[in-house]
Amino acid sequence: MATDTVSTSVEERIIDAIRTVIGDRDEFVPLHKPTFEGNEWDYVKECIDTEWVSSVGSYVDRFEEDLADYTGAKRAVVVVNGTSALHVCLRLVGVEAGDEVLVPALTFVATANAVTYQGATPHFVDSEERTLGLDPAKLGAYLDDIAKVRDGTCINTQTGNPIKAVVPMHAYGHPVDLDPLQEVCEQYQLTLVEDAAESLGSFYDGTHTGTIGRLGVLSFNGNKTITTGGGGAILTDDDDLADEAKHLTTVAKKDHEWEYFHDKTGYNYRLPNLNAALGCAQLEELPSFLDRKRALAERYRDAFADVDGVSFFTEREGTRSNYWLNVLLLDEDAADRRDAVLETTNEAGLMTRPTWQLLSSLPMYEGCSRMDLSTAKDLERRLINIPSTPSLVEEVQS
Ligand SMILES: *Cc1c(COP(=O)(O)O)cnc(C)c1O
Repeated sequence: MATDTVSTSVEERIIDAIRTVIGDRDEFVPLHKPTFEGNEWDYVKECIDTEWVSSVGSYVDRFEEDLADYTGAKRAVVVVNGTSALHVCLRLVGVEAGDEVLVPALTFVATANAVTYQGATPHFVDSEERTLGLDPAKLGAYLDDIAKVRDGTCINTQTGNPIKAVVPMHAYGHPVDLDPLQEVCEQYQLTLVEDAAESLGSFYDGTHTGTIGRLGVLSFNGNKTITTGGGGAILTDDDDLADEAKHLTTVAKKDHEWEYFHDKTGYNYRLPNLNAALGCAQLEELPSFLDRKRALAERYRDAFADVDGVSFFTEREGTRSNYWLNVLLLDEDAADRRDAVLETTNEAGLMTRPTWQLLSSLPMYEGCSRMDLSTAKDLERRLINIPSTPSLVEEVQS
């Protein structure tokens, strides 16, 4: 309120609001730490006891089946991390040297790196504040200006390169607006590959993120909603693509009792059984993690409702977010306090972080094509993540 005589700073107000929700804590509160409360130890111990720790084992198959069941994808292929999953997906949809792939400028670096691994070039797209993700309307208008479809292939008329695919990323668990994006994909003959690394447990119109595009990617890195230490998965409804994903990620070896015959340059991207065992146990706990993360988000929403200078980002209608990392957006006139907020909160033992620096400004991507990125730039100045571990809230009683 403007009439306050004792005016507090936005950073003090933010610390107060976070403490209202999670209480005073002696130890440093990280953004998101792993939670192991179920069968993790039993399943991992079983791997060690039976000596099935590595490339083959029953937990790999079970984790793939459990992931397909949970997400509703016809198939899931587990791999060593989310980045390798993205890489393989782009190869599977035919992205090759000289191509361009549309990716948001505001995402984790892996989304663009995977494009580069295929010898292709990322082409950066703006985000919308409503979803924090890729802006389909703005992309459509942009392609109307710079792209043409020739013989079924989208061509960037400025560079002459084919644009093969678009990789939206569901930032912090909030689904991108996929219906209008699919229309753009159809009009411009682009393959949709979803980077759902952050959105296990997030739904768009009742459908799990990562299952709407031709392929989708999950990550089970240590900071994600569930973890296998390191790990990832490829989701698809296409059996042939799933079989080929399995083949490519297991060094493209043809099944044989003793011969080593490989019919392609594959990758050693398989997820070890040990990690898959952890994944099976973590997936059993996912519903409880999601309930608690939702309860935490609701408490933050209430606590920040009347705080001047900042707002708490909530899920959009028609979507269900996993609230992987909770998001604050500083008001325009408080944006210059961002670094002060980061410094003060971390000093107070509450971990906060800014969003990613726009990939279009990183040295290796400076020269890549991009559209106007004004919203992404704006979000980069104003977005702050706050502590989001499910155990910050006790099990919700219904
Ligand atoms: C975590 C993450 C990845 C990569 O996953 P890793 O398992 O760490 O390789 C890719 N994209 C996004 C948006 C991510 O957040």
